Amino acid sequence: MEDIDPPREVPGSATRILHDLSRLGLNSDRPVLYQSTRTGAYESAVGTLLSEGKAFWCGCSRNDLPPSGIYPGTCRNGLAPGKSRRTVRLNVKDSTIRFSDLIQGAIEENLEHSVGDFIIRRADGLPAYQLAVVVDDAFQGITEVVRGSDLLESTARQIHLQHALGLPTPAYVHHPLAIDSDGKKLGKRIASDPVGRLPAASSVRTALQFLGQKPPRGMELKELWSWAIEHWQVESISLADSESAIM
Ligand SMILES: [Zn+2]
Repeated sequence: MEDIDPPREVPGSATRILHDLSRLGLNSDRPVLYQSTRTGAYESAVGTLLSEGKAFWCGCSRNDLPPSGIYPGTCRNGLAPGKSRRTVRLNVKDSTIRFSDLIQGAIEENLEHSVGDFIIRRADGLPAYQLAVVVDDAFQGITEVVRGSDLLESTARQIHLQHALGLPTPAYVHHPLAIDSDGKKLGKRIASDPVGRLPAASSVRTALQFLGQKPPRGMELKELWSWAIEHWQVESISLADSESAIM
């Protein structure tokens, strides 16, 4: 449960998400791990990377970056003159990451050209999303990561972090996004809550159809899940984001 960003966290949202998932028949078979209980593990990972010289303190603010936003390695060999410690960045010098996504295919990214040394500990002391996710995936023994294609651009950074920390790399599947008629993704920030409006079985059926699966008509929730697990075909998922039938 990604609840580590107090300024952005909406009170009660974690409970609501778990309740919504449960209503759709999705119950975790292990205790839910809350990122807010894991700050020690994140700090320890940042400390290791700093002590091994794989990460460095940076004193730059957003205004110090070039217009591209790609970090040019300014503080790699020590803070720039007149600057004090602000964030911790991971060194990505000469790092080209290759991975194969089950839906998106083969992907190659040179991190030095695409993002530059990226932040793993923010100026407010919180761990960056990329670091927290990588540390938690390894801690929970995650072998397959399934998530929306909007997170595809994070994957190379996360794999580089796994390499730096000596952690295994899981398999990745990035599925297309359900978007509304304005092209915005359906998600927690959208007030219209289409998932909550429909009976659970209808929501699950619509989601399966959106993902290219063809469940038979007239199934109850439990039956629908059994069918989906047995007949799931990842190759039927289309690459493109498309408008959801729920809207
Ligand atoms: Zn810097």
